[in-house]
Amino acid sequence: MYSKEIDLLINLLSSLQGIGPRSARRIALQLIAKKNTLMMPLGEMITDVAKLIEKCKICGNYDSKNPCSICTNEKRDENIICIVEEVSDLWALERGRLYQGVYHVLGGTLDAIRGISPEKLNIDYLFKKVREKKINEIILATSLTTAGQTTAHYIVSKFKGIDIKITRLARGLPAGGELDYLDEATLSQALYERISVNKEMDTKA
Ligand SMILES: [Zn+2]
Repeated sequence: MYSKEIDLLINLLSSLQGIGPRSARRIALQLIAKKNTLMMPLGEMITDVAKLIEKCKICGNYDSKNPCSICTNEKRDENIICIVEEVSDLWALERGRLYQGVYHVLGGTLDAIRGISPEKLNIDYLFKKVREKKINEIILATSLTTAGQTTAHYIVSKFKGIDIKITRLARGLPAGGELDYLDEATLSQALYERISVNKEMDTKA
């Protein structure tokens, strides 16, 4: 039905998360119809981004600078690390424009069923950073999904006995919701009113 090239384009588009074959066909048609005004510039932009963007070696953010512009910004407090699951969560927090610390992107959550063990996440490097630098506080901003909470518990357990302030985002976030779906004000509020995990642990003990 389609030429080999169009077929390939549709296949590539439908490999994107959230885009099924029907959407892929529609997008392909739109692109072809707007060849000069949309398809060509998009193609060039994709090539540029692919060439220029790297994963930050310190925090895991994506940027054309490595270390990224957050890690190299002198105004940011590098002694406060906010731990997030994905770069999308980092972007969500940055949209709030309130947070002045730095980040650590885990690259996912622990999940025994899917075989995601601590080694598969960027966790060891987090401990290394905390040990080597004078980190005052880590903020757990993992999602309230079961996997997100399991990951947060694991991190807290690993920091047992280490003198560091551990906080988590305040309640008020929808359970099971990912940070990216929240509006900036809610997210900034949850960050501003963050709760001490150390205290919670002491009460339980
Ligand atoms: Zn960075």
